[in-house]
Amino acid sequence: MRILILEDSKPGRLLLTSRLEKEGHRVDSVENGRQGFLMATSHQYDIFISDLLMPGWDGYKFIEAMEVVCPNMPIIVVSGSYEEKEIRDRVTSYGNVLNILPKPIDFKWLFEVLATVKEQSTESVRKMARIVCTIGPASDAPETIGKMILAGMDVARLNFSHGSHESHAKTLQAIRDAEEKWGKPIAVLQDLCGPKIRTGAMKDNGVLLERGKRLVIQTEPIEGTATRFSTIAPEIIADLRHGDQVLLDDGLLELKVVKEGHDEVECQVVVGGTLKSSKGINLPMTSLSLPSVTDKDKADLQWGLNHSVDYVALSFVRTPEEILEIKDIIHTSGKRDLLVVAKIEKPEAVENIRAIINATDAIMIARGDMGVELPAAKVPRIQHEIIRMCWQENTPVITATQMLDSMTYNNRPTRAEVTDVSVAVKDGTDAVMLSGETAAGMDPVNVVRTMASIIREEENYPDSMGKDQCQLLIADGSTNPAITAAASLNNSAATMLLDAHGTLFPQLSKWNRKVPSLLVTKSLHVARHASLYKNIVPIIIREKLNRDQMVFRAMETAKEWGYIKTNDVVAVVEGGRLTQGGIPQMGAFQLVLVE
Ligand code: PEP
Repeated sequence: MRILILEDSKPGRLLLTSRLEKEGHRVDSVENGRQGFLMATSHQYDIFISDLLMPGWDGYKFIEAMEVVCPNMPIIVVSGSYEEKEIRDRVTSYGNVLNILPKPIDFKWLFEVLATVKEQSTESVRKMARIVCTIGPASDAPETIGKMILAGMDVARLNFSHGSHESHAKTLQAIRDAEEKWGKPIAVLQDLCGPKIRTGAMKDNGVLLERGKRLVIQTEPIEGTATRFSTIAPEIIADLRHGDQVLLDDGLLELKVVKEGHDEVECQVVVGGTLKSSKGINLPMTSLSLPSVTDKDKADLQWGLNHSVDYVALSFVRTPEEILEIKDIIHTSGKRDLLVVAKIEKPEAVENIRAIINATDAIMIARGDMGVELPAAKVPRIQHEIIRMCWQENTPVITATQMLDSMTYNNRPTRAEVTDVSVAVKDGTDAVMLSGETAAGMDPVNVVRTMASIIREEENYPDSMGKDQCQLLIADGSTNPAITAAASLNNSAATMLLDAHGTLFPQLSKWNRKVPSLLVTKSLHVARHASLYKNIVPIIIREKLNRDQMVFRAMETAKEWGYIKTNDVVAVVEGGRLTQGGIPQMGAFQLVLVE
């Protein structure tokens, strides 16, 4: 059997290892829970034998983490506190603990327990594509956020269409606490709601609109009926033109404007149904005069700036100028660490996509509203094209909405959903997003685990750098030549990038999708931003070290985390700097043999 031992005492580790090896088992050992977790989730084992009291992550923390990522993998606990019933009860309350044995170990007893274990394997939890999770009532408890991080969440989305500044501040704190507890940088994405147009209040919270009947939409707020209702955005009324389509409730109901007006418009019901209060209104044919950045968005953005979120997403973007307006507000505030995500959901945004990609820091393909504003059948091709363009322009892209929608209510996804996630990953999306599934679903942790497993499966079949891609890489004059050299290698185990200011990692993310890209940085902000980019693993080293010490330290960490092993070759890359001898270096590339 393949066994991993977690034991901080060296004599204890050696004794256990030698006795187990004598019995024919293959054994690895580590000194603490964090190392154990990283080994367990990057190598294959049948069982773990863990001490309880260890420095750093103790046995409990290891058990807790393993219960999230590999709930079926058995753990045998060995403890000097076996006599204390409280401890025995706590340990055996975890579903993944098979048994608890006293110290010193009775080997006969241990072998008997091992004989009951069936051979099975842990799975790697490593993935290159990122997972963005919307945090909501089902997931805002600190413990749940921690489990979602362990299961594979990289970016936490705060949806400002809901909640108050107080509730978001509480959630943000819970995210930061969990990030620290589990030692993984998490980017926080603040999603501004933009000019979302909704119906006003409706009588009895819902009225039946019948096909063929006429009704009026007016600027003045009223309690809506089957013949007349209002909207929370009265400005739209004067924009509506004869023949325009009015889609209600995600396009489930449809009206056509038959008479324009300044204070009210008359419409005919094309597709009927029940219309409830506060349902979305989409106007795909209308040129709207509503500002893209509303007063609420500006107040929310101020909150984001004050709370140091990492990304801010702007909804219903139409032109690059709207992105520049937000960037201007950010720059004027002096907080340059906030990056902008353009949500692509309007037909105008699709038309202006190249200019928007160039103006923004990241893109979200917001398929929910896009599928109402445009014929839904066009969404897959638009998604494919946007992912391709974002890759060309080296802008990270999130594919969003309804990816595992049925898991809001079910334990397992539909096969179509699995294929949807897999296709987006294969096409090269940096991230896939969960909305209601994690914000309001029945088991957010299970959804993240499921999404991570789909990503991993797809990434088992990487598109190796073919001749065409290699030619593209070599022809791409904007990539630092040191990165070009590292990305075209075929025999390195990892690429390590020394990137203090976080200017080069996007290039590495774009080109290096075969082996892990280890980003060595001092800055937690850089590490958080990198959490949205495919295949970037940040290693934060805060001490002031010289270059070689830095490489040694980062190698040690990468080895401890299971990314590299003795005799591997690592391509170490860095960008422009003045070397100690005063040489103006443009880029450097070094092949290092791991000791
Ligand atoms: C979408 O429409 O797909 C989307 C992500 O936006 P929101 O969830 O804010 O409506």
